Amino acid sequence: MDTQEKLDILARDAQYDLSCACSTNKPEEHRKRSVDGDRWLYPVTVANGGSGIMLKTLMSNGCGNDCKYCPLRCQQDFRRVSLEPSELASFFIDFQRKRNLIGLFLSSGVVGNPDRTMDRLIGTAEILRKRYRYRGYIHLKIISGASKAAMDKAMSYASAVSLNIETPGASHFQKLTDRKRYETDIMEPLRYIASQTQRGGLFPRIHTSSQFIVGASDETDREILQYGWQMYRSLGFGRLYYSAYQNGLGDPSIPGERQLERELIVEEQPTLFELPPVYKPVGAQKLLVREHRLYQADWLFRQYRFRYDDMVFDSAGNLDLTKDPKQLWAEHHPEYFPVNVRRASLNQLLRVPGIGPTFARRIVDNRKGAVLSTLEDLRLPRSYLEKAAPYLEL
Ligand code: SF4
Repeated sequence: MDTQEKLDILARDAQYDLSCACSTNKPEEHRKRSVDGDRWLYPVTVANGGSGIMLKTLMSNGCGNDCKYCPLRCQQDFRRVSLEPSELASFFIDFQRKRNLIGLFLSSGVVGNPDRTMDRLIGTAEILRKRYRYRGYIHLKIISGASKAAMDKAMSYASAVSLNIETPGASHFQKLTDRKRYETDIMEPLRYIASQTQRGGLFPRIHTSSQFIVGASDETDREILQYGWQMYRSLGFGRLYYSAYQNGLGDPSIPGERQLERELIVEEQPTLFELPPVYKPVGAQKLLVREHRLYQADWLFRQYRFRYDDMVFDSAGNLDLTKDPKQLWAEHHPEYFPVNVRRASLNQLLRVPGIGPTFARRIVDNRKGAVLSTLEDLRLPRSYLEKAAPYLEL
C-alpha cells in the first residue's frame, strides 16, 4: 500500500474522534469530510479563529484495547494499517503546499502500550517541527494512560492536545472497557494536562479539548454537563465535544465495513441546525438530537455565561429533546422577565431567548443616547426580534 491508500483507511477511521477542531460554532461539520476525493481532509475552525481544512488521520488503526463503543477495538476483524512518522511527515509537508492545509490532527489506536504509541505521534510532530521547520497547527491526541514524560514531550511540539474523557465517571466507563482504568488512564492524565496548560504550567499556550461519547453507557445529560462544567471551570479545558454513539459501532457481530456504512448514512442526515422547531425524534436521530442539545448547553456555558446550576433537566436527568436549553430556562424563570432594554446589563440580555452575544453587545453599545420608541428601534433581525419580544420591555 502506498501512503495515500493507507491514509484513505486511517483517515476514515479517524472520523469517530470529533475533538480535532478547537473552536467552532458548527459542530455538525465535525463529521464531514472532503467530498472532492481527498477523504482525509476535514473542515475546521481552530482556536485563533482561522478556518480551513485539516488533514486528520490515525497513525495506526490497530489497537489492543476493548472499548465497546469503538469500531477499532481489538476484537474487530478488519485490515489494520500503520504509517511511519517520517512517511506521514513528508506526505503532509508535500500535501499542505498544494492544498494550503490549516494543520494536522493526529491520533492513533494503541499499539503496544500508551507510551510506545505516543512515541510515534510525537516522532511525527518532531520531524515536522525540526526537519521541515513547520510552524503551523499540530493537534496531537494524548493516548489514555500516557506517562507524564510523554505528555510533556507531546505538548512541547503541539499547538493543541486532547484526551477524551469518554464518560462522566468511572461507573459508566467500566461498563465499556475492561482494559482501561478511569482514574489512572483518564482522570490523572487530564489533571496533568490541565496543570501544565493553565497559568503557571510549562505550556500555557497549548489549547486543550476532550470528548464525551453520548449514549454508549447509561449516563445522563445531567452527569455529562456536571463533568463538562468542572472540566471548564476547574481544569480550564478550552473545548468539549459530544459524540453520539452509533449503535452497532464496536459490536463484534457486525463486520467493520457494515459499521462504516452506518457512519456514512449518519453523515448524510440533514444538518441538525435545520430541524423544525417541534421535532419528533426517532431512532438514531434521537441520539443526534441529544448530542445537539448537549452542544447547545455547552454553548451556553462558553458564550452566554450560564452555569451548570442553570440547566433544566427532566425527571430522568436529561435535557428536553424538543426545546433548546436557553428557551427552557426562560420558561422556568418568569420572575426574570421582562428585561428592560434601556437598563439591562449584558448578562441580563444574554438570558433573553433570541438574543446572542453579538446582539446583546450591539444593544448595549447602541442604546446610549439613542431614541428607543419601539422594540423595532433595536434593529434586530425580524426572526430574532419575534423570539425576544415577549421577554423584553422598553
Ligand atoms: S483505546 Fe479504545 S477508543 Fe481508542 S482506539 Fe483503542 S479501542 Fe478505540
